[in-house]
Amino acid sequence: MKVEDKVALCAIKQHAESHIQLDTSLCEKCPTKICIRACPAHLYTLEQNEVKVDHSGCLECGTCLVVCILGAVSWNYPQGGFGIRYRHG
Ligand code: SF4
Repeated sequence: MKVEDKVALCAIKQHAESHIQLDTSLCEKCPTKICIRACPAHLYTLEQNEVKVDHSGCLECGTCLVVCILGAVSWNYPQGGFGIRYRHG
């Protein structure tokens, strides 16, 4: 089974408030903006030269927190009852 197929089995209950915050003043200085390529859910985008993140669809893998070399990502698990629920196929 491919990763995309496994992810499609998951259920996500999205909280209105994002559990991911960006310090965009640091993002501006980032030479790689690696979060855009590293996020397996493709939630990071560059819009008018500003890094944006859409928390809906987050797999809660923590990759963005780890790869951000400038510490611009503040990340917490979503509030209880929200977020991803992994299911096995
Ligand atoms: Fe993407 Fe994982 Fe970060 Fe969620 S925790 S935004 S899926 S890299």
